[in-house]
Amino acid sequence: MNTPAFPLPSRQFIDGAFVTGAGAEEKVLNPATGEVLCTVPEASAEQLEAAVAAADRAFDGWSRTTPGERAGLLLKLADRIEANAETLARLESRNCGKPYTAALNDEIPAIVDCFRFFAGAARCMGGMAAKEYLPGHTSMIRRDPLGVVGSIAPWNYPLMMAAWKIAPPLAAGNTVVLKPSEQTPLTSLYLAELAADLFPAGVLNVVTGRGESVGAPLVEHPKVRMVSLTGDIATGQKILQAASRTLKRTHLELGGKAPVIVFDDADLDAVVEGIRTFGFYNAGQDCTAACRIYAGPKVYEKLVADLSAAVSGIKVGGPDEAGVELGPLISERQRSRVASFVERAQAQSHMEVVTGGAKMDGGGYFYAPTVIAGALQSDEIVRREVFGPVVSVTRFSDVDEAVGWANDSEYGLASSVWTKDVGRAMATAARLQYGCTWINTHFMLCNEMPHGGMKSSGYGKDMSMYALEDYTVVRHVMVKL
Ligand code: NAD
Repeated sequence: MNTPAFPLPSRQFIDGAFVTGAGAEEKVLNPATGEVLCTVPEASAEQLEAAVAAADRAFDGWSRTTPGERAGLLLKLADRIEANAETLARLESRNCGKPYTAALNDEIPAIVDCFRFFAGAARCMGGMAAKEYLPGHTSMIRRDPLGVVGSIAPWNYPLMMAAWKIAPPLAAGNTVVLKPSEQTPLTSLYLAELAADLFPAGVLNVVTGRGESVGAPLVEHPKVRMVSLTGDIATGQKILQAASRTLKRTHLELGGKAPVIVFDDADLDAVVEGIRTFGFYNAGQDCTAACRIYAGPKVYEKLVADLSAAVSGIKVGGPDEAGVELGPLISERQRSRVASFVERAQAQSHMEVVTGGAKMDGGGYFYAPTVIAGALQSDEIVRREVFGPVVSVTRFSDVDEAVGWANDSEYGLASSVWTKDVGRAMATAARLQYGCTWINTHFMLCNEMPHGGMKSSGYGKDMSMYALEDYTVVRHVMVKL
């Protein structure tokens, strides 16, 4: 058993108090070693009920606080996250396997900024006063909170996803029951410790457990007015079906398979560096990962060669190793899934694994960063979300083919276009059916701009004023003058 010198929070946060879960025991692993970090008993049905009831009771008071009051508390929480950055980064990197420096320097500042952004945004969101549409009457449009929001988060960026799912609904005046992934509950539970004495009891609750035992009843609960999920398409479909029974609002951020269109005139060094970074960040376990490369006919050979050399130099290792760039996958199950995608690609003679393509020896769930060349649009490796450190490269002949292939996907989350021709870049971006298109970069997010998908990647926006609006209802109040 690992005995790390950092806190391993393991209790549910319900109605302002910490309680030991009365449900089944869930082992939380360290993916870099396969060791059990700790056991977190999940919330029982009664505890989930208590969390929703507490959030429902707290709603009336919380929804009547001023935006300024809510902003003040969100800013305090941001300060506490910042002050505890090292502990949170340590917990996150241990539980997910990601490099400690990435958690500390990339993720925590973005999380702190998320709370600060929504603190300010709460104070800017307004309704609208209208003139007389009917003689002798006037109207106003209010944006009001909905009630209890059930927020369900995945395992790839546990604390960041929690922030995206807590900050805007709380800023808008909703109360929240957050359910992190059963595989990665630790930073969400630590966040509850940081928030515990800030918010009135019941405003924020954190319950942990599996999707079937805790997530599904949260979605079914009649007092939950909205469910926000970041997760798999199949989970989104189940949640949508379940939510239809109580007609609750849903906000779904689902999978992705980002196309990366590289025109012949692109700055190839920048492309290679971009794919090396953004195709393999978080071990490729990212819904926006730059994983589906379409290269122009003149640049294809050199791109494959340069990318292969660059990717083979990525430093793989445990969270605390100096200079580590790529950690393990989240679980053996995920690693086997990734390996089976690559094995099936390897079995087809038109494709070549130019670097990587194997599990790595030793403890933990490491998989070598992999580039597959010669992939065709019809290949599974091009069409399905691998969610691992694997990119495929496909040669296109002209812009119509590239755009057609990029859009020939059930996904519609993120995409990028690489060219020195600004007109071509803008024209291509306009044709792409994706919630986001980057030009000459990939993966860059900021709290002021929306993040969200089209098609089966879901709907609703995280980040930005659009997220705040998603967690409110538009109401009309009419006055007889
Ligand atoms: P997942 O769908 O398996 O789990 C996500 C969450 O849903 C977990 O908390 C899980 O316990 C819960 N859940 C599972 N079944 C449920 C059910 N029936 N009812 C209620 N809750 C249920 O996803 P994951 O494996 O944790 O994460 C990986 C997926 O998330 C990938 O597909 C990835 O693309 C997607 N993702 C999307 C974004 C985005 O912004 N679009 C960001 C990160 C991850």
